[in-house]
Amino acid sequence: RFISLEGGEGVGKSTQARLLESALAERNIPAIITREPGGTSGAEAVRSLLLDPENPDWGYRAEALLFAAARADHVERCILPALQSGQWVICDRFIDSTRAYQGGDAGLSDAEILALHAIGSGGLLPDRTFLLEVPAVITAQRLAKRDGTHADRIGGRDATFHEKVARIFGQLAEAEPQRFCRITADKSPEAVHQQIWQALQTMLAE
Ligand code: C5P
Repeated sequence: RFISLEGGEGVGKSTQARLLESALAERNIPAIITREPGGTSGAEAVRSLLLDPENPDWGYRAEALLFAAARADHVERCILPALQSGQWVICDRFIDSTRAYQGGDAGLSDAEILALHAIGSGGLLPDRTFLLEVPAVITAQRLAKRDGTHADRIGGRDATFHEKVARIFGQLAEAEPQRFCRITADKSPEAVHQQIWQALQTMLAE
């Protein structure tokens, strides 16, 4: 099974990835946690090109191509082999992040992003995508609290940008209700985990 966790900055995706992995392990279900951009040495190298503040501020086309290249390596060398060996894959961000961050009015069209994804990664989609959503004001508070060690890349991203990201994520979830599950994430990590776990019960029963 292939699960992705999506959402804006500071919504707690990596914490939920760990809680989900432990809950699966308790049921003897092997799972790996991986992340985008990253997950393989090649894709982590692209991640540092994208996120290192010393590197250029990429235009949105170059940015989308770099994300697609990183994902192609990640899918081929990490995600598909893990799925083929029977492991669950829990991915912290996947294609929907590119649709939300590099898409929208000032970016590539969704069709262009999906075309890149078809070329790079055979159009692979998660079986289930959990969209973690918090009110914009909470995102702003959480971002302000982060220390400098977290990759809060690309200058010039303001509240309007983060609102666009949240809006596109919401539209994607509405367009694909079978794949997406919207999770209200302004609660304790354990409460958010319980929502995700409840929603996964049908998949576990299959
Ligand atoms: O998930 P995480 O916060 O580690 O993401 C790292 C950074 O990469 C974030 O600042 C996010 O905004 C950015 N990103 C992006 N476009 C994507 C995926 C991630 O700008 N498609």
